[in-house]
Amino acid sequence: MGPHRSLNARLGATLAIAVLLLAACTGDGSGASGAAATDGGGGGDAGGYPDREITFVVPFSAGGPTDTVTRLIAGPMGEALGQQIVVQNVEGAGGTVAAGQVAQAEADGYTVLMHHIGMSTAPSLYEDLAYDPLEDFQTIGLVTEVPMTIIGAADFEPNTLEELVEYVTANADTVTYAHAGIGAASQLCALLFQDAIGVELVAAPYEGTGPAMDDLLGGQVDFMCDQTTNTTSQILAGDVKAYAVTTPERVESLPDVPTTEEEGFGEVQVGVWHGLYVPAGTPDEIVQALTAALQEALTDENVIETLAGLGAAPVSEDQATPEAHTQRLQEQIDLWRPIIEAASAE
Ligand code: ASP
Repeated sequence: MGPHRSLNARLGATLAIAVLLLAACTGDGSGASGAAATDGGGGGDAGGYPDREITFVVPFSAGGPTDTVTRLIAGPMGEALGQQIVVQNVEGAGGTVAAGQVAQAEADGYTVLMHHIGMSTAPSLYEDLAYDPLEDFQTIGLVTEVPMTIIGAADFEPNTLEELVEYVTANADTVTYAHAGIGAASQLCALLFQDAIGVELVAAPYEGTGPAMDDLLGGQVDFMCDQTTNTTSQILAGDVKAYAVTTPERVESLPDVPTTEEEGFGEVQVGVWHGLYVPAGTPDEIVQALTAALQEALTDENVIETLAGLGAAPVSEDQATPEAHTQRLQEQIDLWRPIIEAASAE
């Protein structure tokens, strides 16, 4: 599986420092709403599910934002289900390795994928994706909405987004930005940023923005775009510079950070959404049990407070459903395809 050739060309320069990568090393229960459930069968008895440990697969490194959200909800979801949930990080290819693995897993509710916006962008970025996000998965429900931030290393020269644009334009061959692989939110955001300023920059790919943040703090890379769930504490501590948030409104927990729109780059807008998936064909009763547990976890005080402190929020109950999730996935696939194709073609 590989990215489209046009994007490959655009990102060719990024491979120069790929070595850095190594351094870091539907149904509402009715089964009628999700495309996969509709097509894939489902049905049947949950048969005492769950009667053993459940694995939540995270498609990026431990310590990153997707990992943080997963571990946060795994506790209360496990309590609601009466079984322990273990978290497994399966990194690689911007989240597509993990998704491909879960698509092939037993459809028994014991292997659950947490993924983000990358589930909707991968079909536009990879020519020969090993799975179809709509056909090969059953959605469980949306989990969170998370803004992104454009941040820089503490000693990186630019102090504002305007200065960042000036600086990277003048130093395009030497400035490095981190991302978590083609298909990651950080890469999508960087693609939009480069497209907006008309400059191609040198990427440092990682397998998650957890390790990318370590290198940003160490000054090995200059800047990156990442979810507030991974950047808020470093911004508030002054350990990184915050240039902008990528949402239409400022983020409550980061009141001093301007939006990209305020700074004149409104086209760089991306909000990250997370959702849970099981393989297509998972019995409806199991899907229902997971959805109910998700909805319960999203009302947990600790989940709400922790997410708020990190600039994020749980979705409302009507969004934590297979129908809403499938609809979002379809809409986002349709939304991002032309944007990615246009940005990649330049
Ligand atoms: N924030 C990462 C991304 O760029 C993924 C992660 O490490 O959670 O998509």
